[in-house]
Amino acid sequence: MRRKLIAGNWKMNGVRASLSEIARLAELTDRDQRRRHDVLICPPLTLAWTSALAALGSGILIGAQDCHANASGAHTGDVSANMLSDLGLSHVIVGHSERRADHAETSAVVKAKATAALGAGLVAIVCVGETLAEREAGKAEAVVGRQVRASLPDGFDARTTVIAYEPVWAIGTGKTATPSDVQVMHSFIRSVVKRMARTEASAIRILYGGSVKPGNAAELLALPDVDGALVGGASLVASDFASIVKAAG
Ligand code: PEP
Repeated sequence: MRRKLIAGNWKMNGVRASLSEIARLAELTDRDQRRRHDVLICPPLTLAWTSALAALGSGILIGAQDCHANASGAHTGDVSANMLSDLGLSHVIVGHSERRADHAETSAVVKAKATAALGAGLVAIVCVGETLAEREAGKAEAVVGRQVRASLPDGFDARTTVIAYEPVWAIGTGKTATPSDVQVMHSFIRSVVKRMARTEASAIRILYGGSVKPGNAAELLALPDVDGALVGGASLVASDFASIVKAAG
């Protein structure tokens, strides 16, 4: 039985006033839900510490949206996985398509970041996903399979690593992949993991991300190979995110 992870990615949104959404999320979800599932918010780094304080005692986990691959050094503006762990964070997203696009991050870079995350005791949420052109060209599985194989850290396991399948064309667009497309891709990703790791494939969690909303979450989260959601826009408002957590059952 895989424990569902409902993760919110606030991206570059939120100021101190937004911390009230974390308190509100704790009010709107019951303790049982937060015990049954992992509920995670990844705010911008400026709010990481105050978010951790706001979440104290609620069981809501706080994570980061990126880390550097190195532990320390001359990398102005960057933050290492050890620093995130030192802050008390539990998870870090790596390889989000916006970082792959905006910062030209290759799967090799993503793998190095995920490796650093594991080394620092963080859970790495490794994002993969095809563009619309790649899907329309019938290359979605080839692209995603390549990303999975090249981005997952050596020695990954279900305890330390989560995969997030996020078709790029569904992120922030209001377009969601059909439940059957999602199930087919998640099952394909699991088969790739099985070939890589031999064991663990049935235990590894695969999240879906891409315009998950209160209205479509239940259907997506009920799919056999969907083990949670990575939620952008709808995680910014506690009532929407709480509805998605509830949809996990
Ligand atoms: C995301 O950025 O990971 C995401 C899935 O965004 P949205 O839910 O807004 O599509």
